[in-house]
Amino acid sequence: MIKNIGIIGAGTMGSGIAQVAATAGCKVHVYDTNKTVLQDARSKLSKILARLVEKGRIGPAKKEEIEQNITYVSDLKDLAESDLVIEAIVENLTVKQKLFKELEQLVSKETILGTNTSSLSIASIASALKHPERCIGIHFFNPAPLMKLVEVIPAVQTSSTVTTRAVQTIEDWGKVVAVAKDTPGFIVNRVARPFYGEALRIYEEGFASFAQIDDAMKRLGGFRMGPFELMDFIGNDVNYVVTETVFTSFYFDPRYKPSFTQKRMAEAGYFGRKSGKGYYDYD
Ligand code: NAD
Repeated sequence: MIKNIGIIGAGTMGSGIAQVAATAGCKVHVYDTNKTVLQDARSKLSKILARLVEKGRIGPAKKEEIEQNITYVSDLKDLAESDLVIEAIVENLTVKQKLFKELEQLVSKETILGTNTSSLSIASIASALKHPERCIGIHFFNPAPLMKLVEVIPAVQTSSTVTTRAVQTIEDWGKVVAVAKDTPGFIVNRVARPFYGEALRIYEEGFASFAQIDDAMKRLGGFRMGPFELMDFIGNDVNYVVTETVFTSFYFDPRYKPSFTQKRMAEAGYFGRKSGKGYYDYD
């Protein structure tokens, strides 16, 4: 049974995945190099759960149980007892490989090492390990507690036992799994690239503002969020890097060409909701 979960990265995704696992009754250790992020994740979760109690979706005892199931830690060694670790740190292959190498030395041989990468090759991340057959993509969507779909992506090295156990665990957490191939952007992030890319091109060609494009897509297109609202929600830093990775991984196919507008937003620190400013202001 997979009961002890390690989460690496307490940002947008890591904190949400921790909530999902803890709600399902798992014991979760959340590790981040940034102590402020850990504190923020704890207080954010408390507020989210308090709102769920107010709305009658969960009782106060469940709130307490979920909170008690999560321990926030600043030492990677505290994840040593994990049956499954899911990494949700910065979208950078070298940084992820370094982390997985370090992690492998701490955990048992049976521990499954999952990555929440949006676009990087699972095979490349797995290649950093002595036992790459234990590595698998487990790709949640944002916000993880609300989004039903999770892509599970076995690499060429991943054992079928690891895939079966990962799928079973994620289904036990109440999610719907799509097993995807290890191709750039997998399924959803590849399909989503033109949604952002074309919107950015329309803006850059001067035909419409961010707000006009969002409004059209919501009011007339039936989308819950327009492309600029969604990029701000995801984080322009994360979203830009994903586009860049998909573009380069598909041998510079112009269909996925990244946008300078978004690049500058990321460079300026205008990440969106999480930084208080993006295409829109959130302060
Ligand atoms: P984020 O910037 O919100 O959080 C990343 C966290 O990782 C930060 O708190 C940072 O302090 C921490 N971190 C960085 N390097 C670390 C290290 N070496 N060890 C421990 N902690 C470290 O990012 P995010 O949006 O949560 O994205 C995380 C991953 O999930 C990325 O791979 C991203 O592509 C993927 N993802 C993001 C989304 C999204 O909508 N934001 C959706 C699906 C998948």
